[in-house]
Amino acid sequence: MKTWHVIDLIEWTTEYFERHEIPTPRLDAELLLGHLLQKSRLQLYLSFEMPVFQGALSKFRELIKKRVDHTPVSYLTNHKEFMSLNFYVDSRVLIPRPETETLVETVLQHQKDSCRFVEIGTGCGAIAISFSHHRPDWELIATDLSTEALEVAQQNALTHNCADQLTFLQGDLFEPLRELPNPRFDWIASNPPYVGTGEASILPLDVREHEPEIALFAGPDGLDIIRRIVTDAPQFLNTDGKLILEIGCNQSHAVQDLIKSQPAYKHCEVIKDYADIERVLLASV
Ligand code: SAM
Ligand code: GLN
Repeated sequence: MKTWHVIDLIEWTTEYFERHEIPTPRLDAELLLGHLLQKSRLQLYLSFEMPVFQGALSKFRELIKKRVDHTPVSYLTNHKEFMSLNFYVDSRVLIPRPETETLVETVLQHQKDSCRFVEIGTGCGAIAISFSHHRPDWELIATDLSTEALEVAQQNALTHNCADQLTFLQGDLFEPLRELPNPRFDWIASNPPYVGTGEASILPLDVREHEPEIALFAGPDGLDIIRRIVTDAPQFLNTDGKLILEIGCNQSHAVQDLIKSQPAYKHCEVIKDYADIERVLLASV
């Protein structure tokens, strides 16, 4: 029987992924094999001649099958890096995107002092936990409608030792805040669902078939949740408080119009992501 070595497996899998039109075939092959053998990509490169035996081979075959079925690599490795921190992820949560780091970096630039901060729709907790890491003196609250997502966020908060600083609340947008003794914040942040229902067919298969619908879709134009957040946020902001939102490509004008139509907002700024797309809106009351 043929002995498979690390390099043979990487090359065979890369070619197999290419045939199945997986967009980053070599990278995915390396990430999945590295995950299975508990090696970083560098360690894998240093082990090209290492033989891989039957037990590992059959597990690798299962991972390859799921990847060809467009299960995202992060759901197979249960891992995603965000703001240089490691997060556990699975199919209960949206996989944090690199462009969302723009929102976090913008807040960190604007707010150095202690403050009260709430994140709406925290998913795996990546945004709120990143703030906890950089600003251990902030009071942090994070909400989600999905109890399953909150289970993942709570697990990540424990791993990052911030369960004491960060309070999780379940419910629809601002509803859970109404029960707090002080429901006003210096910052409200959200990366809400903003994909239009009609745009489902243009989403990559990984996203469309595997990520939670509740994390993606927000009505025909994708603005249903953003509209509600922009309307209700001022009631939950302190004087000079700020609302920061991630938005989809081509939504910048529509969301700026929404903000301008609310007299409570004094100022609105647009921030571009690394791909030069207008990705984040920052509004002050
Ligand atoms: N904050 C995470 C991130 O940036 O990776 C997840 C963002 S994901 C695009 C949107 C999140 O909002 C999901 O976790 C979803 O469950 C949550 N969500 C959707 N509708 C909601 C609602 N009405 N109230 C609260 N959270 C909601
Ligand atoms: N940006 C996400 C995507 O790539 C959508 C997440 C969202 O709606 N906030 O599909």
